[in-house]
Amino acid sequence: MKKTVLRSYAKLIARRGGNIKKGEDVIINAALDQPEFVCMVVEECYRAGAAKVIVEWSYLPKSKLDIRHMSQKRLGTVEAFEEAKLKYRLEKNPAMIHLISDDPDGLKGVNMKKYGAAMAEKMKVIKPYRDAMDNKNKWSIAAVPGEGWAKKVFPNLRKCQAVEKLWEAILYTSRVIDKDGNLLDPIAEWDKHNNSFLEKGKVLNDKKIKALHYTSSNGTDLRVGLIDGSQFVGGGEHTLGGEYFNPNIPTEELFTTPRAGDAEGIVYSAMPLSWRGQIIDNFSVRFEGGRAVEVHAEQNEDLLRQMVSIDEGAARLGECALVPFTSPIRQSGIMFYNTLFDENASCHLALGRGYSNCVKDYDKYTPTELAEMGVNDSSIHVDFMIGSDDLKVVGICEDGSKFEIFRDGNWAF
Ligand code: ZN
Ligand code: ZN
Repeated sequence: MKKTVLRSYAKLIARRGGNIKKGEDVIINAALDQPEFVCMVVEECYRAGAAKVIVEWSYLPKSKLDIRHMSQKRLGTVEAFEEAKLKYRLEKNPAMIHLISDDPDGLKGVNMKKYGAAMAEKMKVIKPYRDAMDNKNKWSIAAVPGEGWAKKVFPNLRKCQAVEKLWEAILYTSRVIDKDGNLLDPIAEWDKHNNSFLEKGKVLNDKKIKALHYTSSNGTDLRVGLIDGSQFVGGGEHTLGGEYFNPNIPTEELFTTPRAGDAEGIVYSAMPLSWRGQIIDNFSVRFEGGRAVEVHAEQNEDLLRQMVSIDEGAARLGECALVPFTSPIRQSGIMFYNTLFDENASCHLALGRGYSNCVKDYDKYTPTELAEMGVNDSSIHVDFMIGSDDLKVVGICEDGSKFEIFRDGNWAF
């Protein structure tokens, strides 16, 4: 990929993703796949005024060795120096940039039960720090192609061709280049994109929708209750300090946080789900009293069952997202095997943790009050795609009227 194009992408990540300002600390999480590009992002962060940029490198084959050889107890331990790092984050409030590139099958063959249990142990220590940072720091997830990932997406191409093709797909869907590969002005494109989310969101929020009813010919018939005063948001977000940033590059979704414990009916998956390095496919989830009470899957049903029983909130919903069938990611026809992209191909729901910042004036409520209002809590947040080409979504408004939001998988207004 051309250096000028990559430089523009790095700048987009620093200026719109992390929205880095003078004097700030930045932590970049990256795998060993595209070190030169990672350095471009580092440089763009410094150019934007960052005081210190830290890169935390990872390498999936090494993590796999840890999972295989370490005891479950040790694997689930947050060491004192690791906790000190969490404390530093809490004090310094650095912007976090995650550059993802891992092979979606990268954890294949590891003992998922051991890994899952160890992660749950670790979360007990990590979660209070994460909760305390919630909505305070700027963060952004963007992607770079890793070889394993590229081969998974384009299995018939040679490694270097597959990587180049995945670069093109990432840059096209992230609005850095157009369909023909010409460089755009990504920052101007993203300003336009962010505005269009604001406009659509305003229409929905003015309707005061209290429940969503999903139906599709695949059998989906699900009613999900929303929280009073919940808002549809999308594109950029604000920190509590009022700073605007783009948490996901790319993004095509308008989403809200549902009322935990208020969902009835059944929903069928529209695309495979990649979770903890494995694919769960052709599945359904049935909700009763807001809880997933029955799950089926043609592939990896046990893993799905394990997922919804990780903790109390894992069986409840934490997100309802609206994504049109015409999104560039769906149009690209590419299955990325990665949620950052695939969630933007289709309407989706998430099991697990909800988004408190979808509640109006959320900063005026305590976490307990927000939980009582229905913002779900869990150690996981897993998106799964339900947007079939004939999905219909109807909003049931406060005054009892109905508002058609989606028809045949696309916006109806
Ligand atoms: Zn989403
Ligand atoms: Zn989500």
